[in-house]
Amino acid sequence: MSFQPSAQAPLLENSSSIDRSPRQASGGLTKTGGFLAGFTHTLQPYIGCRFACEYCYVKGLSVHRFHQPPANWGDYVHPRIGIAEQLRKELTRLAARNELDQLAIFMSSATDPYQGAERQWRLSRACLDLFQEFPPGLLVIQTRSPLVVDDFARIRALGARCWLNFTLETDLEAVRQTLTPHCPSIAQRLAAIQAATAFGLQVQITVSPCLPYSSVETFGQQLLAQHCRVIVDSFVSGDGQAGKRTAATATGARYAEQAWGDWRSEERARALYEWLEIRLGERVGWSQAGFTALTQRQ
Ligand code: SF4
Repeated sequence: MSFQPSAQAPLLENSSSIDRSPRQASGGLTKTGGFLAGFTHTLQPYIGCRFACEYCYVKGLSVHRFHQPPANWGDYVHPRIGIAEQLRKELTRLAARNELDQLAIFMSSATDPYQGAERQWRLSRACLDLFQEFPPGLLVIQTRSPLVVDDFARIRALGARCWLNFTLETDLEAVRQTLTPHCPSIAQRLAAIQAATAFGLQVQITVSPCLPYSSVETFGQQLLAQHCRVIVDSFVSGDGQAGKRTAATATGARYAEQAWGDWRSEERARALYEWLEIRLGERVGWSQAGFTALTQRQ
């Protein structure tokens, strides 16, 4: 494959002020519900996320609020060393009870499993290797990082059980740079999505949260051209607390500075969803129902 994520991704691993200290994992799978109802577990190979999206709701969760020592979101990423060993124990127990098919795992909800640290630690890869041995009923990998291309063969080996969710919130690079300056560019993400589908992976593009975009037709056609399932989400429907978590971030201030209108409005996200629904039918989903639709198909 000619696509080379390592050469393209701005994964910010050279800054010296970042806390990258490893933390021992006390477990692998975490039971889940709420927004991810339908999934049985989440899996977080890292604590923290160097992508540091302005709107990230994880900033409001206890994993960040009680982080020691206190640090800004984005200024730490702890590899959860030993996670593969913990996961092996858990999967062995589940296999003995013949319960692997009942697993629906979301990797990850509070970090990006393919941020730059993965290049060094390969914890997400270690988990994927275990899933070859203990295949779960459903594994959804959520990322915005082209680094995932390094594991395409492992993902494909899981067949219909595994989906790659790839985040693409807008088609406007200026919007991406304003709210998520440390994330891979739109062009890098589109290249990774195209590489994934060419490789034969099952891909969902998650427009989550839907940020200001050019026009319904332009962004919509760009999404259609990828031949993937699509999920469209908004801050209010998608942050798990009807927008309260987003309100605690600087997202509103950025919207005001840029004259982007009310960040709470779902009008443009809905317009994009409805345009796509006409053309994709059940292959497009809205917010929570979209994220959990795959769990209904098991
Ligand atoms: S990539 Fe995901 S987990 Fe990381 S900062 Fe952005 S929204 Fe949060």
